[in-house]
Amino acid sequence: MLFNKILIANRGEIALRIIRSCKELGIKTVAVYSLADRDSLHVTFADEAVCIGPAQSKDSYLKIPNIISAALITGADAIHPGYGFLSESANFSEICEESKIKFIGPSPQMINAMGNKAFAKETMKNNGVPVIPGSEGVINDVNEAKDFARSIGYPVIIKASAGGGGKGMRIAWEESEFENAFQTARGEAEASFSNSDVYIEKYLENPRHIEMQIMGDSFGNVYHYGERDCSVQRRHQKLIEESPSPVIDESLRKIMGEAAVLGAKSVNYEGAGTFEFLVDAHKNFYFMEMNTRIQVEHPVSEMVYDVDLVRQQILVAAGEKVETLPRKPVGHSMEFRINAEDPEHNFRPSPGRIESLHFPGGFGVRIDSHIYQSYQVPPFYDSLLAKLIVWGKTRNHAIARGRRALEEFTIEGVKTTIPFHLKVLDDERFISGNFDTGFIDNFLTKQ
Ligand code: ADP
Repeated sequence: MLFNKILIANRGEIALRIIRSCKELGIKTVAVYSLADRDSLHVTFADEAVCIGPAQSKDSYLKIPNIISAALITGADAIHPGYGFLSESANFSEICEESKIKFIGPSPQMINAMGNKAFAKETMKNNGVPVIPGSEGVINDVNEAKDFARSIGYPVIIKASAGGGGKGMRIAWEESEFENAFQTARGEAEASFSNSDVYIEKYLENPRHIEMQIMGDSFGNVYHYGERDCSVQRRHQKLIEESPSPVIDESLRKIMGEAAVLGAKSVNYEGAGTFEFLVDAHKNFYFMEMNTRIQVEHPVSEMVYDVDLVRQQILVAAGEKVETLPRKPVGHSMEFRINAEDPEHNFRPSPGRIESLHFPGGFGVRIDSHIYQSYQVPPFYDSLLAKLIVWGKTRNHAIARGRRALEEFTIEGVKTTIPFHLKVLDDERFISGNFDTGFIDNFLTKQ
């Protein structure tokens, strides 16, 4: 039976995105918000809204008792966690279960299994999928870590166990750099996630980041919706994503898709998930990690597979089967992350008031955004203001449409990444499709 009322345990564009799918399904919605988000659009557009605490995320969007109370008071029978915040918290999923509220996402067991990087890699390895060589779990002793790094060979990357958004990651190109990189990664991990656990991986030089979108249901069906290419990154943070990837052909898509499906099936995975891979210049692919939630960049898959992934998440959580869809991507889609950051000054955050706003429109243009004219961008959360998603018949068509839409896009009052995207779209390497995860850092030093 479909849900009666869903509480959205998130904010910003993704909260709005979820509300939209709920409305189309005839499901009532409850927004939760911090004091800093009182005037946010997700609060306006939900049927009900509950304040769950002060601005700091740890006192509001991460505060499980407050969110559960809001669900109980409003009679919500399900919670959608969006991405970030509590979306990959096995503890939260478990508390929802205990409170008889359906968590729209995997069970605590599945989150623990696939969210645990060592376990996920072992599972994939057992399925015959190549994985990036790395430590079996956390290594917090510097000497032990150094020995391990030597055993797999330099360069290595030290990564925060609780990592996300590119934070808590450091590369050591040779042993003399190791100790410093190790301590810096741990310090950053502690500051960002209150958890200094790190693990070590072989660092692949200039790979492409390719991820496969999957969806599983309670009948044991798992399907994939092809790949997203997220190689346009600055300091390991994604800025432009596209589907299909210019370097993945039908046969590689099939192989990587089947690897992801197999991985998901082996843990009876339910809901939306993403298998992240790095692909080298010879098209060898290596499993990196699995994300047990909806991703920021999910719309590019929606555009080329003609599927509403959030609607599918909700239906699957309500016990329905995954809808069978065309298995081939149609056309080409790109997403540009419009952040409140100043590309002229090292992408420093630029919170403030949106003085004037004009969204682009027209055929093949989609905006997922929570901002409006006179909206005050709070300094407490991530800097994503909007996602501009375009669709075109071909990659070149999508690029032309992206350029046209970015030129129409006007945001005044705060600095944004719009001018940066326009420059990337004029770059020969980007246009040719021949780039890797090192492309943007290189591109910026040449500017
Ligand atoms: P997060 O969860 O913070 O987004 P990921 O583990 O997904 O972090 O890594 C983000 C990016 O960092 C990848 O897309 C890739 O560019 C780079 N990266 C991570 N691990 C490696 C590795 N072993 N070798 C090369 N690059 C890596």
